[in-house]
Amino acid sequence: MAGPVLCWQRSAWMWARRTRPLVPGVSRLHVSSRLLSKEHYKVLVLGGGSGGITMSSRMKRKVGAENVAVVEPSEMHYYQPLWTLVGAGAKKVQISGRPTASVVPSGVTWIKSPVQEIDPDRNTVRTGDGKQISYQYLIVALGLQLHYEKIKGLPEAFKYPGIGSNYSLQTVNKTWEALQNFKEGNALFSFPNTPVKCAGAPQKIMYLSDAYLRKTGKRSKANIIYNTSLPVLFGVKKYADCLWEIVKNRDLQVNLRHELVEVRADRREAVFTKLDSPGETVVYEYEMLHVTPPMGPPEVLKGNPLADQAGWLDVDKDVLQHKRYPNVFGIGDCTNVPTSKTAAAVAAQSAVLDRTISRVMRDILPDKKYDGYTSCPLVTSYNTVILAEFDYNGQPLETFPIDQGKESRIMYHMKANLMPHLYWHGLLNAAGYGPWKTTGAQGHIPRRVSNLSKVH
Ligand SMILES: Cc1cc2nc3c(=O)[nH]c(=O)nc-3n(C[C@H](O)[C@H](O)[C@H](O)COP(=O)(O)OP(=O)(O)OC[C@H]3O[C@@H](n4cnc5c(N)ncnc54)[C@H](O)[C@@H]3O)c2cc1C
Repeated sequence: MAGPVLCWQRSAWMWARRTRPLVPGVSRLHVSSRLLSKEHYKVLVLGGGSGGITMSSRMKRKVGAENVAVVEPSEMHYYQPLWTLVGAGAKKVQISGRPTASVVPSGVTWIKSPVQEIDPDRNTVRTGDGKQISYQYLIVALGLQLHYEKIKGLPEAFKYPGIGSNYSLQTVNKTWEALQNFKEGNALFSFPNTPVKCAGAPQKIMYLSDAYLRKTGKRSKANIIYNTSLPVLFGVKKYADCLWEIVKNRDLQVNLRHELVEVRADRREAVFTKLDSPGETVVYEYEMLHVTPPMGPPEVLKGNPLADQAGWLDVDKDVLQHKRYPNVFGIGDCTNVPTSKTAAAVAAQSAVLDRTISRVMRDILPDKKYDGYTSCPLVTSYNTVILAEFDYNGQPLETFPIDQGKESRIMYHMKANLMPHLYWHGLLNAAGYGPWKTTGAQGHIPRRVSNLSKVH
């Protein structure tokens, strides 16, 4: 992706697009939090995943560690992109995680509790352990929620063999077990009728499963079927065309507009509705089923003034500042920016958001615009990847001087071995490896910084 796949790729190759200087703004933003609570931070970050830790590192540099806190209940931090390879037995799940304590930047306060309530009119949040914390600036990085329970029969079905899901830590190894135990029959892969993170992941595991079954001599006994709710195989035509070729050449069956609604694990049956023929369902027997669950915004945002109608954090897609609360910002999967939700997008967004916050803190206009850069390394076998990188308009934004629409061994190496390293040592540390600061940004935007009526 125009350096999308993880802007960190761009970093690695020191490729970055230049941003134009902006016209200094004059709007004034006076943020004076009411100190209703005992704890107060200049910058409070909600969520300690990819976006939250990245922004904590950046904010530590900006305002000093003692002025930054991150609220995150989980003991462990995971590099989720590796789970695609874990589900196919190419990596061990253990190497995808590190203790949260080791990734929270030193000196930054880690509040180990879930956020339970956000009150943007009072600039406060309440955590699960009853603390009220006030902030001057808030960065929301809460990720998204998985909803296995929205499929009838789940999550109980995961107790049965033959079913797995790369989307959660608890079920990713079950994918690998199902693949290893495959004897003969249908290998089914689903894609839900909701926004998802890494929209390529539901089909990457299909290509890997195909490769595994070929390697082990079982492919002739398998029908590999990808049932997707989408009307397309992939959202960007250039890459979709390449994927259709692969699907055809490898005898993979693709059924568009099919949504998984029920799993009868005791009978190894999966029920799909045909979205273009309301009321019509199809039942598939399976030997192996990979479930990509429905996904939605974090519970704590639902009904909150920070959320849009669908429940996602309502930010300006150019500068990542909240549309109504100028001291609130968002990054990553929890936002409503209309791009594919990936860690690559987080990397691109972090550079823009860093700049936006710096400017807002100085009462001047944001001058960088996020172009929607996102990236998806489409793993097509145990040694090949198509590196899709694109922007808000679905236009390819490729980093490398090769045709990224072709399967590449080098790109596989990058996905499997280099990117995890760049994630832990570059992105999370906001290492300032040059390009981190500029990727995913373009131009300046003549936009008012604040809506003072909402700031206290
Ligand atoms: C199988 C799979 C494959 C993927 N492949 C790729 C890939 O190849 N390339 C790529 O770029 N991306 C990929 N991704 C997507 C990528 O991992 C996410 O887009 C990225 O992690 C988003 O970062 P985030 O900070 O928005 O959310 P997350 O990293 O998910 O972090 C959200 C954090 O918020 C915390 N949280 C939740 N609720 C609360 C609460 N109430 N209070 C406090 N904290 C809370 C969570 O514990 C979590 O730590 C993949 C994801 C999966 C699952």
